[in-house]
Amino acid sequence: MLLVLSSLAGTKVAGIRAWGQANGLAVISLLLFASRGIFPDVLSLELANALLLATIALMHAGFCHHLGRPVPLRRLVAGAVAAFCGLVYFHHVHESLSLRITSVSVYHASVCFAIYRSVPVARDRRLRYPFAFTRITALVLACGHAFRGAFYALDAWEPVLLVAPDTINLVFVALGTLAMPALTLGAVMMANGRALSDAAYAADHDHLTGAPSRRAFFDVAERELARAQRKGSGLGLLLVDADHFKRINDTFGHGVGDQVLRDLVRRTQEVIRKIDYCARLGGEEFAVLLPDASPETASMVAERLRRALDRSAPATNPSGGPAYTVSIGLAMLEPDESFASLMQRADKALYAAKAGGRNRVVSAVGLAGGDKG
Ligand code: GH3
Ligand code: MG
Ligand code: MG
Repeated sequence: MLLVLSSLAGTKVAGIRAWGQANGLAVISLLLFASRGIFPDVLSLELANALLLATIALMHAGFCHHLGRPVPLRRLVAGAVAAFCGLVYFHHVHESLSLRITSVSVYHASVCFAIYRSVPVARDRRLRYPFAFTRITALVLACGHAFRGAFYALDAWEPVLLVAPDTINLVFVALGTLAMPALTLGAVMMANGRALSDAAYAADHDHLTGAPSRRAFFDVAERELARAQRKGSGLGLLLVDADHFKRINDTFGHGVGDQVLRDLVRRTQEVIRKIDYCARLGGEEFAVLLPDASPETASMVAERLRRALDRSAPATNPSGGPAYTVSIGLAMLEPDESFASLMQRADKALYAAKAGGRNRVVSAVGLAGGDKG
């Protein structure tokens, strides 16, 4: 599992480091356990168990990091110190293997239960299985360790109660052996799921403005086109282009130009309807899809947007940021039209808005040359 985790080191997914450290410590701990009789007890028992306590605590810390939650450091350390004190007490003061096992098991059970509680039910489809796997694994381990702790506590009290110690011991050994690999498997699946989810988000969103990307836009557009044609509902398309944007960059610098693009997206999302969909097509050009819109509604939304993005006069731009305006081309989907043709007509309307003096909305209706697809 350590080697598998190493392969994910380059993904920058949070938590990998702590999970890697936990597995590294687990390896050292197991080697120390195996050296029982060769090395003194302080190494093969006390240190080996202390490392195993640290292992599960680090696993929990990894899950907290991964999920962006605070690590309950004090509780983890206090619990580990208590378990370790129990271990030392039942070794050097009152020798009892059963109660040593109980001390350690109680800690493992508590931390596994805390892991179970900290991993939520994932909303993202890609993360649902990894999260569920980890939750169930942590819960099974918590129950297993709790049972093991209770079992050995009982054994210390009244050994005759134990009916089939061999079988039960085998189950406990399996539990101990599978705990770390199973939890780490969950962690690896979560890390993979997160990396995939982040990559999908990056592909579907523009890094600068946070608006949906060109790629996401065409996926949604094809879906909306099919829906509009199936239902016979109206579909409008706005192409929005910042006016003389090159001048803004040349006058104020690229950083301010970037700021204007972010501002433009924010204001757009504020004034369009909830069902509308704004995406950055590239450069200073944006598109807004208007599902379920009549020509009147589309014109109204377009004009409202133009006004919201008219930051040219001091009255509309009191904060004193760089002045800018946009031109908008509007086209409504016609029966049996393709999306490429709708885009072409909206683009022509945008061109006409630029030619007509900018800072205006031009509708494709009545413009010559709208090719049907
Ligand atoms: P028009 O009114 O005719 O649209 O003129 P314009 O200057 O807006 O159009 P033009 O196509 O000449 O220039 C677009 C400029 O947008 C050029 C390019 O450097 C700038 N641009 C494209 N992407 C970005 C970006 O991400 N950030 C910044 N700051 N500028 C960008
Ligand atoms: Mg422009
Ligand atoms: Mg442009």
